[in-house]
Amino acid sequence: MADCLFCKISSGEMDTDFVYEDDQVVVFEDINPQAPVHLLIVPKKHIADLNHLEASENDLIGHVYQVAKKMAAENGIDDSGYRLVSNCGDEGGQTVYHIHFHLLGGRELQWPPG
Ligand code: 5GP
Ligand code: ZN
Repeated sequence: MADCLFCKISSGEMDTDFVYEDDQVVVFEDINPQAPVHLLIVPKKHIADLNHLEASENDLIGHVYQVAKKMAAENGIDDSGYRLVSNCGDEGGQTVYHIHFHLLGGRELQWPPG
C-alpha cells in the first residue's frame, strides 16, 4: 500500500524510532499522546481495519497481545492497569486505515469512552 502511512512507518521508510520491532509488528509512540504511556502496536502487514481481518491472521493478533503485555511491563503499567484499544471505522474513531492497537496507561482511564 504505497500511500499508507503505517505501511511507510512500519517498513522503516519514515525513519521512526521504534520502541520494539520484530518480524511481525513495530511499536512506536503516538504523535499525539492521550496518556503518559501511549504506544501504537502496528502489524507490518497491511490490514485496513478489523472488518478486513482474516482467520488466518489470528496468530498475528495473538502476537499483538503478547507484545502489548511485554510493553506494559517494560513501561511499568502492568500492575497499575492499562487499556489496549483498536478503533474501527469512522464512528469507532479510526483515522489511519491500517490496523493498529493503542496501548494506553499511566493515568486512571475513564469508562465509558467518549
Ligand atoms: P486511530 O485514530 O486510527 O485509532 O489512531 C491513529 C493514531 O495515529 C492517532 O492516535 C494519531 O495520533 C497517530 N498518528 C497519526 N499520524 C502519526 C504519525 O505520523 N506518527 C505517529 N507516531 N503517530 C501518528
Ligand atoms: Zn498499510
